[in-house]
Order: sequence, then C-alpha cells, then structure tokens
Amino acid sequence: MGGKIIGTNPPQQRKPRPPPTTDSTKPSRPPATSIIPPELFITICEPLTPDDLFSLSQVSRYFRNLLCSTNSSATQSIWRKSRLTFLSYPSLPPPPPPPHGSACPDDMDERTYILMTNIAIRCQFCRDRKKPSQIFWSFQVRCCDDCFHQHTISEYNLIKNYNMAKDALCGLPYTSPCDYKIYWKDHIPTAQSDYSLALESDLLSVWMMQQKAKLERYMSLIERHEWEFKNEMTKWSYQTTLSLQEIRLRSSYMAEEIASDMNLDPEKLRDWGIYWYPMDTKTVRNLTEDDWDNWRVEVETECKNIRRKSQKWFYRFSRA
Ligand SMILES: [Zn+2]
Repeated sequence: MGGKIIGTNPPQQRKPRPPPTTDSTKPSRPPATSIIPPELFITICEPLTPDDLFSLSQVSRYFRNLLCSTNSSATQSIWRKSRLTFLSYPSLPPPPPPPHGSACPDDMDERTYILMTNIAIRCQFCRDRKKPSQIFWSFQVRCCDDCFHQHTISEYNLIKNYNMAKDALCGLPYTSPCDYKIYWKDHIPTAQSDYSLALESDLLSVWMMQQKAKLERYMSLIERHEWEFKNEMTKWSYQTTLSLQEIRLRSSYMAEEIASDMNLDPEKLRDWGIYWYPMDTKTVRNLTEDDWDNWRVEVETECKNIRRKSQKWFYRFSRA
C-alpha cells in the first residue's frame, strides 16, 4: 500500500524561519489589512449580513477597531448598508442621544442599534441570560425588570417623597407604562440643579419653554422608534406580551411605592401576591385610572393587614 490519497497534499517539511532582520534602515512593512483603503473595505463588506460583521469584528483587533469605531463614517456606512440590505427591522436611522445624556456608556451608533434591536437580547446592565429584557426607547436601553427598577424612579415618588417640583421634570425624557411616568435616576440631579438655577435667576418660564421644546422634539423621534418596535412585535404576535409587560411594570412600581410608604419590605408584597396587578393572559384590559386607584386602595389595605399580623407575631415572640 502506501499509495497517495487523492486530494490531499503530502506533508511538507517546514523550513526553519530566518531570524528577523535587524536592519533598521529598511522600512517595516505594514500588515496587508492595514493598507486596505476605507472605500475598498466598505465594498468588501457589502455582501456581509450584520451577523457576519459581528463575527468578522471578533476575528482580530484590527477588524474590531475597523468595525467597532463609533466615530468613523466608513464604519457607520458599513453597518447601515448591511442593516438596510439584510434586515427588515429597524428601518429608521438610529435615534439621537437623549437630551440629558445617554443612559448607557454605549452611544447609539449603527452597530449598537443593530445589536440592541436584533442580536443581543440580554440586559445591558447585568447581562443575565436568564432575565428577560426589553427595550426602553426613551432611555435607549435594553434592560431587565430588576435593573430597570434600580435605575429609574416614578414621578409619583419624586414629587411625594423627594419634594421634587413637577416643573423641574418638564424637560426629562420618560417612559409611561399605562400612563405612569417613570424617569431615569441619573437624569434627575442635572434637572434639579438647572431648575433651581433658572428659578433663582428669575428665568423659570424661559427655561421651561426651552426644556419642553427640546423634549417634544426628542420624544416625537422616539415615538417613531416605539411604533416601529411595536409593529415588529405585532408581526411576531408579541403585542399581548407588551401590554402585559406595561401592566406588570406599572403595578410593580406602585407596589414598591406603597411598601416604602408603609415601611414594609416589598418582598412581602410579592409573597402575598399583591406585587403585580392581577392579570389574565388571555385578555388584556384597558385599565382606567379608576382601576388603578382601586388597586392602590386594595394593596394599601392588604399592607395594613400584613403589618398588623407581623406586629402580632413580633409581640408574641418578644413576650416569649
Ligand atoms: Zn439586568
């Protein structure tokens, strides 16, 4: 035997590499890839899907620098072309940064935009695979429920417990599940100090007008993104999931607030099953403010019961 197998090359003896030349007079040759002009690189990337581009960006540092640069117009053009050629969603350009700064260190460049809407489904903060996350367009984040609670605060809480003037919030982007306004915590200090400054300098009405105009412009752009996202979800029959998520979010917010007002651990409300509004997955009701007010009263009554019972137990144990 010992015949050659067709199609395979015989093992080749490797020649020992010559020692590196130390002739400093010769210019060192740049790697082949670094001499690809940006226009040519854009053309080479044209047939690549966003998935391919992500894979390519992980091949080497060189490709990562080329494909992950947030301020290179060539990089943005590569991702934009790929998105518009291969993805039906999103078709809108990436949204502008929020007026009070990005909630996440990643600015919304083309790559982050595709990553957030199509590829990465993990929360940007805890990156926990097990926790479902969703996009909150006004803050431009993909977030799980826990991280969302950690980073946000309701208008109700700000006004009632932090004595924040409602006018101070007039320029802040917000999200409003079931019409319950929720703000990004990091945006609050700047808004508060700008408001105080405007108030002291007797320029409050001018400041408020500017803030409102800025917010209106931003929110109308963001609304288009929300619509596109909701339409996309409808296509995948996630409409009900989205509505349930809104109810879940607003009720959990209210439960946290009530628990805090009554000095109770919110975990107790979860144990008692009064943390989320009772939901039927088959029918999503259009809840009115009256429904929510009734629910608040119900939770408050239950909280009083919990407090009374735990006090009774505490009393019994402390006497024993
Ligand atoms: Zn998270």
